[in-house]
Amino acid sequence: MPGHLSMEEVFARACELIPGGVSSPVRAFGSVGGTPVFLASAKGPHVVDITGREYVDLVCSWGPALLGHAHPEVVQAVQDAATRGLSFGAPTTAEVELAAAVKARIPFVEKVRFVSTGTEATMTAIRLARGATGRPRIVKFAGCYHGHSDSLLAAAGSGVATAGLPGSSGVTDGAASDTIVLPYNDPDALRAAFAADGERIACVITEACPANMGLVPPASGFNETIREVTREHGALMIFDEVLTGFRVGPAGYWGHDNSPDAPRYVPDIVTFGKVLGGGMPLAALAARAEIMDLLAPLGPVYQAGTLSGNPLATAAGIATLRLADASVYARVDEASEVLQTAIGEALTGASVPHVVQRAGNLFSVFFGEDAAARGVRNYAEAQAQDVFRFAPFFHAMLDAGVTLPPSVFEAWFLSSAHDDAALSRILDALPAAARAAAS
Ligand code: PLP
Repeated sequence: MPGHLSMEEVFARACELIPGGVSSPVRAFGSVGGTPVFLASAKGPHVVDITGREYVDLVCSWGPALLGHAHPEVVQAVQDAATRGLSFGAPTTAEVELAAAVKARIPFVEKVRFVSTGTEATMTAIRLARGATGRPRIVKFAGCYHGHSDSLLAAAGSGVATAGLPGSSGVTDGAASDTIVLPYNDPDALRAAFAADGERIACVITEACPANMGLVPPASGFNETIREVTREHGALMIFDEVLTGFRVGPAGYWGHDNSPDAPRYVPDIVTFGKVLGGGMPLAALAARAEIMDLLAPLGPVYQAGTLSGNPLATAAGIATLRLADASVYARVDEASEVLQTAIGEALTGASVPHVVQRAGNLFSVFFGEDAAARGVRNYAEAQAQDVFRFAPFFHAMLDAGVTLPPSVFEAWFLSSAHDDAALSRILDALPAAARAAAS
């Protein structure tokens, strides 16, 4: 395209060719209004748009960029891999190395299957749970997002929440009818669902710590309750760590919430994505061998992928996990604390009722008196917040050169490349954004 086009002109052209002008609906500015920012490059904590304007980025590719954008060692690893061939459709030692790196971080993992997207990982985990139990039904929680496979789109978070949709057109009643949707953080509803239909429920899938309706941590004991109830009824517990895995800590939210030597709960199947691929398309499901060996070619549960575990993505994943040492997590944790405090102070200073909810280095802001008074424990409460305050807040931050996820229902992402200079730019932007949210 000609280089002199404005953002609006590029977006108009994109809309002629691509539905909504975007390849994933969460990138649209549907809930905040205006023209999505088309990016040309990214480095460290920054992204640069097609006009050459630089922003401090709090999207971080929706999670993967734990080390910041285009970390030189990750880029080098991908370049080296590319010179050896882009994709073989045959096993590689890199897959073995990456599987070992995952297993080394998550003690209950015995085997790993690589796929290309988080959607595939959770979809396959569900199929595996059904194959393992011989049961049809699944339980998911309202506001949790597990990708866009048919059976998981009911009352989903992320872009489905942003658009205010109950689910998706094109999903048949047959596909949806085996999905039981329950309110999050409600042990009684979970027990009641199992009391009513426990013998037909294959699994409960839950975000390890929900971050797709905003950040809604599990109430104390909720993940343990899921574990107990599923075990009592012979169902499996699927822990979706696509977003939290290797981001909240080296062993994901599970490691953040459990001592590896004496865990309070251990799920049956865990899913990863995002940071695992370090910015390349890579995701995985993992479990103990007895479950994983039900997958083809050993077992009867079929799953496959032309580009699964491809050499470029595995190279990025290996380099990312190798570099994600204690100092990386310490920096992201520290930056996240500075930011959470500053957001709270700015909003309080502008008399905007709010709560900042967090799980380690992940957090999001909810607006409104009820949210401020009680916190947000489930999707209904997340939807009841003062959603209208987010658009002016978002645009004030954007005007000041800070990119946030364009939805109030998303967590904000930091990286270890967010240095003091980047943080200062965010802190400087917050007071005006808070005042915009107040009006
Ligand atoms: N699971 C969770 C918790 C997610 O946050 C996401 C994506 O945001 C997915 C699954 C789907 O991953 P993907 O977008 O790679 O298909």
